[in-house]
Amino acid sequence: MKTLAQIAAELQGYDPKALSVADANAFLARLVQPVQGTETIGIFDALGRVLASDVVSPVSVPPHDNSAMDGYALAGTQLVPGQPLTLRPVGTALAGKAWAGTVATGECVKIMTGAIMPPGLDTVVPQEFTTTGADGSITIAADVLRLGDNRRFKGEDLMQGSVALAQGELLTPAALGLVASLGLPTVTVHRRLRVAYFSTGDEILSLGEPPREGAVYDSNRYTVFGLLTRLGVEVIDLGVVRDEPALLEAAFRQAAQQADAIVTSGGVSVGEADHTRTMMKQLGDVAFWRIAMRPGRPMAVGRLASGTPDGRGAVLFGLPGNPVAVMVTFLAFVRPALLRMMGSTHAPAPLMRATSTEALRKKPGRTEYQRGTVSTAPDGSLQVCTTGNQGSGVLSSMVQANGLIVLHHGQGDVAVGEPVDVMVFDGVI
Ligand code: AMP
Ligand code: MG
Repeated sequence: MKTLAQIAAELQGYDPKALSVADANAFLARLVQPVQGTETIGIFDALGRVLASDVVSPVSVPPHDNSAMDGYALAGTQLVPGQPLTLRPVGTALAGKAWAGTVATGECVKIMTGAIMPPGLDTVVPQEFTTTGADGSITIAADVLRLGDNRRFKGEDLMQGSVALAQGELLTPAALGLVASLGLPTVTVHRRLRVAYFSTGDEILSLGEPPREGAVYDSNRYTVFGLLTRLGVEVIDLGVVRDEPALLEAAFRQAAQQADAIVTSGGVSVGEADHTRTMMKQLGDVAFWRIAMRPGRPMAVGRLASGTPDGRGAVLFGLPGNPVAVMVTFLAFVRPALLRMMGSTHAPAPLMRATSTEALRKKPGRTEYQRGTVSTAPDGSLQVCTTGNQGSGVLSSMVQANGLIVLHHGQGDVAVGEPVDVMVFDGVI
């Protein structure tokens, strides 16, 4: 396990006082590792969990060549271009009940969708492409069918012995169905990540406390709770912690004992008159960053000693206090780091490109995140406009937004009609 100083030495031009978003993420990728420990659980409990080992298919899916349509199965070599074909049905193959007879030239078998293809037959003509004669024979019009049509191959979805899902995959609804289709009732996943969180600051009120001059109700804990819960981690809520060394120390110690990661908000700005920074430094190996971004410039990261057997300590993310800065830094840094700790090897969702319907002011040399509404333009392409007041404390504009416009480090002003990158929230927050 590396110290912060060792990681810093590996990174070219690391400057905690002026860190780009990309450099901050490169640092975090070295700081955090997947948690140890796996468990085997039923499929209904596995949504959102991360596979700890490959799922190897014990069977082929589908297990046999079968029909994709209701119709008649035949040997396709009898089809002659430009000519109709008349065949005599000699039996019926049902889904779940194969037809066992043999089929001669000039014969066919009535077949249902999903039924096993009778031996020697390789083509299915859909019912609606046939006409039935008085003697019960069927006729297929010329040139409506080719050899192999409407037949699904054995193993088309998955071959026996192949990797159906790789270790590191996040189990989505489709993945759950795939596991079940192999006849497997359980999966082996990484144990759930435990994340503790609390808010700091003397001016922060807990719900239920009477309003007080100069004080604000805690919103960050609820936002962080929601963001963490969407990630599928186990959350440990440690409340609002007042700015007293003994209380802060108790909260950090408890968090480090119980959790793999700790997310706090507030008290990390330079010149803060509170004890949060001091306590972080005292209890662990912690760096205080000034990130070239907006919102969300100050942030603390590191590891607090936890006394756990693996000796890894808990990873600390000390987020700024402003409510929008909390969400933006969570999405930019904490979420990817926690996914890595969860064992996920999944590439992050790509940013989308949308046309800005307004001019945006942007200073090169920092990454800016603006709250935006992405919509479909009349021509079907994506467009985006900003939502309301972009102040870093204005949560209502975050609520209105369905994405963040990401104005990259080197980028300057954006003119009306220029394309910009957008992180769309759907499925993320
Ligand atoms: P700080 O980073 O502690 O200087 O906080 C920056 C701003 O965010 C201040 O205006 C705080 O009142 C506000 N703030 C800090 N923590 C919270 C919180 N948990 N909920 C709502 N606002 C907060
Ligand atoms: Mg404060």
